[in-house]
Amino acid sequence: MYQCEHGGVVRLKLAVDPDLGPLAAELSSLARGAGLDAVGITGAEPFGSTRRHLEQRKAAGLHGGMHFTYGDPARSTDPDRALPGARALVVGARSYRRAAPAPPRGNGVYGQVARYSWSDHYGPLRDGLGVVARHLEANGWQARVLVDDNAMVDREAAHRAGLGWYGKNTALLLPGKGSWFVLGSVVTDAPLPPTTASAAGGCGSCARCLPACPTGALVEPGVLDARRCLAWLLQAPGTFPIDLRPALGGRIYGCDDCQEVCPPNRTEDRRHPPPPAGDEDEPWVELVRLLERTDAELLAHLGRWYIPRRQPRYLRRNALVALGNVGDGGDGRVVRALVDGLAAGDPLLRAHAVWAAARLGRGDLVAGLAASETDPEVRTELAAAGLTG
Ligand code: SF4
Ligand code: SF4
Repeated sequence: MYQCEHGGVVRLKLAVDPDLGPLAAELSSLARGAGLDAVGITGAEPFGSTRRHLEQRKAAGLHGGMHFTYGDPARSTDPDRALPGARALVVGARSYRRAAPAPPRGNGVYGQVARYSWSDHYGPLRDGLGVVARHLEANGWQARVLVDDNAMVDREAAHRAGLGWYGKNTALLLPGKGSWFVLGSVVTDAPLPPTTASAAGGCGSCARCLPACPTGALVEPGVLDARRCLAWLLQAPGTFPIDLRPALGGRIYGCDDCQEVCPPNRTEDRRHPPPPAGDEDEPWVELVRLLERTDAELLAHLGRWYIPRRQPRYLRRNALVALGNVGDGGDGRVVRALVDGLAAGDPLLRAHAVWAAARLGRGDLVAGLAASETDPEVRTELAAAGLTG
């Protein structure tokens, strides 16, 4: 920007304005002060190769119906669509690394939550980036915060801003810090100078994450088949694929396996032990209690999770599969949950309850249903479990 002879402010249409170096440094400092662990700046040119990858993978079916940035690749890869006149992205990363507590003791049956969802980490990230956006606005520029938003390919923005490299597990790894980060951006019309990409990092010859995936979803280094990824399937609508249900184990939201085994994450844990989980963190959810809750209670308690179409039936679907894997068919509370699932008005729940009951050796609970069921999906489950009577 400069002041013209009539006193007005004129914005030069520079791709990058070197005079904005001090502003860029202020933004980085402010972001770190607001709790971000890493900050980088990149230009707002469209992410052309990312768009092609998204479109190719979508055409090949590897997205498994996943929408998010796949929903409209032309939009999610073009910062100008989020803010007309965009010139730069200020990209931030915030750690959610916490020590994993032991499973709770007691009589409950617990489902496991992925680390990024133990509590709301996007809120603090949004707040930190909000500080950046307000400082840009105070300096006469436009700015928009994009966090957990289908309008931006966060990982690619972070990569181009030099924050890290793509692991073979498709996560972004920050040099010397690992991958336990949420990512977000501020898109602005300020032509900020980009940060220099870090040369450090890279997976090298490591490929530990590929065999660690319980479903073989990492079909080759850096290529995820979402149709097999448990983290996505827990968020996908419809029937949970029957052949992948045993691999789900007790997971109820997300999957951390391909990050847990990652050497940079393990090294960081040894060097800097993670802080303990706080009171607000919820790494475990009691499955029977979840199944007993009303829709309103589920949305109030777990509404920060991505739930397909905001329909709590999908939380119950997931809980029934997890219960079938880690429950005890002789436990009275588990049996009552199965009986309730088999009597549910929703055929999706009856279908998954059939599977869970059969898996826990409680085919006897299904006898009444086998005689009267007319829904084709439930009948398919009954047949698959050999319980058609
Ligand atoms: S999140 Fe889990 S299921 Fe998905 S690729 Fe990683 S290890 Fe595999
Ligand atoms: S486990 Fe190894 S190959 Fe996989 S992301 Fe981590 S460093 Fe890369």
